[in-house]
Amino acid sequence: MPFPVISPRQQHSMAGSAVDFKNLSCEGQNNYLKALRSFPGQAIVDLSALVGNMRRMRSLFAPAEVMGIVKANAYGHGLIPSCLAAVKAGCSWIGVAKAQEALAIRRGGIGPGMCRILAWLANCVWAPYEEMIGEDIDIALGSLDEIEAVAKAALRAGKRARVHIVVDTGFSRNGFLEGSFGAALSLLKKLSGEGKVEVVGIMSHFSSADAEDEGSERYTDLQLESFSRFAKRAESAGFKGLLRHIANSASSFSRPLSRLDMARPGNSFYGYAADYALGSPQDFGLTPALTLEAQLAKVKDVDAGRAVSYGRTYKTEKETSLAIVPLGYADGILRTAGGSDSPLEKAGAPVRVLTSCGPKIARACGRVCMDQFMIDLGAPMESLGVMEGDTVRLFGPGAGEEENEPTADDWARRSDNISYVIYTNLSLKIPRLYLNAKKELGEEGLSLLNPECVLS
Ligand SMILES: *Cc1c(COP(=O)(O)O)cnc(C)c1O
Repeated sequence: MPFPVISPRQQHSMAGSAVDFKNLSCEGQNNYLKALRSFPGQAIVDLSALVGNMRRMRSLFAPAEVMGIVKANAYGHGLIPSCLAAVKAGCSWIGVAKAQEALAIRRGGIGPGMCRILAWLANCVWAPYEEMIGEDIDIALGSLDEIEAVAKAALRAGKRARVHIVVDTGFSRNGFLEGSFGAALSLLKKLSGEGKVEVVGIMSHFSSADAEDEGSERYTDLQLESFSRFAKRAESAGFKGLLRHIANSASSFSRPLSRLDMARPGNSFYGYAADYALGSPQDFGLTPALTLEAQLAKVKDVDAGRAVSYGRTYKTEKETSLAIVPLGYADGILRTAGGSDSPLEKAGAPVRVLTSCGPKIARACGRVCMDQFMIDLGAPMESLGVMEGDTVRLFGPGAGEEENEPTADDWARRSDNISYVIYTNLSLKIPRLYLNAKKELGEEGLSLLNPECVLS
């Protein structure tokens, strides 16, 4: 395959990208060009950032084990590549919510020899328990009906089911309450005696570990105390040496005691603090892995006082230029990211634009549409050297919008949300492209990726 030939205009378009096109291999260059033609936005994921974040947490949280949480398509980063990055960093546990995600990981080529997988969200009527048991997937049990169903599936599979008991310490979502826990323990005792299940862990989830007010701190203390009572009851019932796990990203960093036998960080694996109020990724030694870019669909000069987008919530203050970013709410951009008429009251989400005088922030202006949103470039296009087709960055691993390097936290803040929503929302239509796949994953890992999504 020959190196592709690109025009000066295409070269100009790529200048604002985080992808260092000229230093990609021939395959990498061709893959990138193919992605640009296939869709006007790209999610570029740096696998070295994921590996680094997991290594950092593993050393910080030791001796606790670390389970890498990859639910929701690995928070939008891509299921299999993210699992491989976690495994590369020495992580031997992977956690997902839905049963089908766990099966997708096994079917993607990540076998029981590479990591254990735990899935904690299913219903006892339709869950594919038998396949899960066959594929060596640990199942979290949160109701008596579920325990019965898993035991039946184990009988059909001809194999013991490995299970974790979910206990409700105050989230009021999944799991046994203190009142129903006795019945669950008796049933599990009987079924383990019959060789149908093997209870390996006990788990719960915090509701407020990402908040620093006194009430939330106290609530987290209470949840931890409740969890310890549940664990003691399980032990008294004869379940010795269970793996106890309750910590999420926020509590794993802020409360070492909550890590117990295993921490379950999700958001910090992808490089972010659980809430931007807690600090920047850099404060935690983390690197955001995903950069979202797009190519401007149109750019035009407009006068002062132009109303922009549905509902006319934004008006240009002066003579300026507007550009279309071709990603909208159907692609997962939050409708609330657009600025309002009074930018001081609510500035729109930041987009990094490369002008002839260097990078500059332009803000989303007016309501986000289905497939696109507008940004106000702040000056006529000619003076900025910004053109149709230019690559702009919505967010990435940088130092924040003040440094002309917007992050998902900036997007979260500007759209009244949390970073989790910013990347889990990204539509599957947006190609995921991987940097440092060759360096981090080796031949065996690479063979499990779609070769067209590998940039380097
Ligand atoms: C999502 C989730 C986690 C990870 O939470 P983060 O805040 O992303 O660290 C851990 N445990 C359970 C049960 C979860 O649903």
